[in-house]
Formats: sequence, structure tokens, C-alpha cells
Amino acid sequence: MERTFAILKPDAVERNFSGKILERIESQGFKIVAMKRTLLSKAQAEGFYDVHKERPFFPSMTSTMSSGPVVLLVLEKENAIADWRKLMGATNPADAEAGTIRKDFAENIERNSVHGSDATETAAFEMSYFFSQTEIH
Ligand code: ATP
Ligand code: MG
Repeated sequence: MERTFAILKPDAVERNFSGKILERIESQGFKIVAMKRTLLSKAQAEGFYDVHKERPFFPSMTSTMSSGPVVLLVLEKENAIADWRKLMGATNPADAEAGTIRKDFAENIERNSVHGSDATETAAFEMSYFFSQTEIH
């Protein structure tokens, strides 16, 4: 069993897609082992996306991530990290495969509805950034 960290981003929550996306997650065999609806501060979003701090889109992307409520998730499944990335689809929804969440829900490359960890180490960092051990069951 593997765990990954996911976010339903402000654009998805704002347009009332939380339920539809959670339904896809559960129907694809992921267990939701932690879940929290919250509003990120700009500083929290900057800390979370620290690896991207030199990228030109960093100021705008962290403002977007803190522009409205999000749903933070820890998902558990065999191959959870790769399988969740596959279900999300490509970063740019224009490149995302049919049937992926980003293809079906994302507005553009920045407002792309969902986040997923990209490796074991980033998943561990991201989970611990938002959840304590006692919040994951
Ligand atoms: P995430 O980390 O959110 O799961 P990702 O791993 O598919 O997405 P990253 O390269 O890590 O993509 O980029 C992080 C986020 O930054 C993207 O999800 C997107 O919201 C934003 N982003 C990435 N590239 C661009 C861009 N060229 N213009 C605007 N925003 C971008
Ligand atoms: Mg990423």
C-alpha cells in the first residue's frame, strides 16, 4: 500500500466539483485516509510549492491556490502516487487524455482543478505539511 497527497484546488471547489471528483477517486479504488476543507494563506501556498519558487508562474499560481477554499486529501492504494497522477491527467488540460479529471474539469494550465504528489519523497513532505499522523486513518 502506498499513500499520496492530493488537493482539490480552488477552481474545482468554487465550481462545486468536489463531490464529482471525490466520486472518481473512490470509484478508482483509492481510500480517502485523511480529508480537510480549508483556505490556504498565500504563505502556506508558497511554502507548499517552494520547489517552483524560481518559476515565472510562481506568484500567480500561489495567489490562485490561496484564492478560495481547497480540499486536502491523503489517498491510499497500491501505486497511489502514479495512479493518482494518471487519473489527474496532464498539467495542461489541453494535453490531458480523455477521461482524466483535468480533461473533464480543468479550466487552464493554472486553474487545473487538482494536485498530486510526483514522488515518494514529495508525497511524504506534502502529507506532513498539512496533516499530523493522528489525522490519517
Ligand atoms: P501539481 O504539482 O499541482 O500536481 P503538476 O505536477 O502537474 O501539478 P507542476 O509542474 O508541478 O505540475 O506545476 C505546479 C502547478 O503550477 C500546476 O499544477 C499549475 O497549477 C501551475 N503551473 C505549472 N505550469 C504553469 C504555467 N506554465 N503557467 C501557469 N501555471 C502553471
Ligand atoms: Mg507538481
